[in-house]
Amino acid sequence: MTATAGADVDADAHRSRLAPNYAPLPVQLAWASGAWARDVRGRAYIDMLAGYSSLNFGHRHPALVAAAHAQLDRLTLSSRAFGHDLLEPFADALARLAAPAVRGDEPLVLPMNTGAEAVETAIKAARKWGYDVRGVAPERATIIVADGNFHGRTTTIVSFSTDDQARDGFGPFTPGFKVVPYADAEALRAAVDETTVAVLLEPVQGEQGVVVPPPDYLPAVRAICDDAGVLLIADEIQSGLGRTGTTFACELWDVQPDLMTLGKALGGGIVPVSAVVGREDVLEVLSPGTHGSTFGGNPLACAVGLAVVELLEGGTMQARARALGAHLHSRLATMASAGLIERSRGVGLWAGIDVDPGHLTGRELCERLLERGVLAKDTHGSTIRLAPPITIDEQDLDLALDRLGQALC
Ligand SMILES: *Cc1c(COP(=O)(O)O)cnc(C)c1O
Repeated sequence: MTATAGADVDADAHRSRLAPNYAPLPVQLAWASGAWARDVRGRAYIDMLAGYSSLNFGHRHPALVAAAHAQLDRLTLSSRAFGHDLLEPFADALARLAAPAVRGDEPLVLPMNTGAEAVETAIKAARKWGYDVRGVAPERATIIVADGNFHGRTTTIVSFSTDDQARDGFGPFTPGFKVVPYADAEALRAAVDETTVAVLLEPVQGEQGVVVPPPDYLPAVRAICDDAGVLLIADEIQSGLGRTGTTFACELWDVQPDLMTLGKALGGGIVPVSAVVGREDVLEVLSPGTHGSTFGGNPLACAVGLAVVELLEGGTMQARARALGAHLHSRLATMASAGLIERSRGVGLWAGIDVDPGHLTGRELCERLLERGVLAKDTHGSTIRLAPPITIDEQDLDLALDRLGQALC
């Protein structure tokens, strides 16, 4: 409808004032706890998306909410112009959690806010390291990325997206990126040259539909990077922090990246918190004044981030993701043999499901799931992703999968 002067007041009141860059499912959430959410009418839903893995520990995890509440009563923002009493403890805790999974004995932490900012930070660090340390010719640094990647929405990041919708109309693009097929180590090896400073990959491609590479891929990428003396940057923003049954997805293949980007679940579903974690000799190229963020590492973010690290330290979340994940994948395999879905894949408590495109689009399936009290989201085409909170009860997971079975009939 076109708005005209004197148009019907009621109709006007219903016209959204939101820019249309999303097409949300028709539900208005008003409350949530654990794996359950309620809408404004009080209808209950099982959350099988978990904020794209931002809610790995469920909605309003008591330890995370308590940490946030306590911090709200004390200090919320300092800016990095000053220090505050949780900045070093947060960096120490996150470095300790990441140390076994990343190169370098004493990793550094660079806190930011959103995932895209962490990726931008890693790109800047890799380029500067390439010029300052590797001696790459000025303005020539390239970073190799994979087809089907998702690393965020900034102009630089969409410059190397292979999703037309994400790119079209947003040029001119940032040069210095080379795209190779995902899970093809030889193509990657062939793309490396004297300008290469880094390879940037998702160890599991989440937005692409939870695509898990073959077991020899990441080790081969690590070897190629070592041979060429270039950095391996693992984007663990969606795959990290327990989702795959390990703390970080790269641990599934015993591969240590030089840098990793973290985000999503690092903020516990409460505040945006992201970070780049990795080799001291790489991150230390970012000397004072070369990079920053007004909100990065703020006290509230650090309080929540610290509590998130504590939840992961014991390994019980990771074990739970493995156990529930095994159950999830066996139930999906049964659905595939019954012909309800075409195939499923994934690792830990994380699955991509392809349905018959002649039968249903992913969007239609998600609408049917919504009617049955399940929140899920298509990734693209006829693929949906399941990533419930790791804290979900097994009965609730089963209930969601029963409803998925019904929605597919
Ligand atoms: C979500 C995501 C990002 C971007 O994070 P934002 O917080 O939305 O900027 C980057 N990389 C991966 C792998 C992601 O899943």
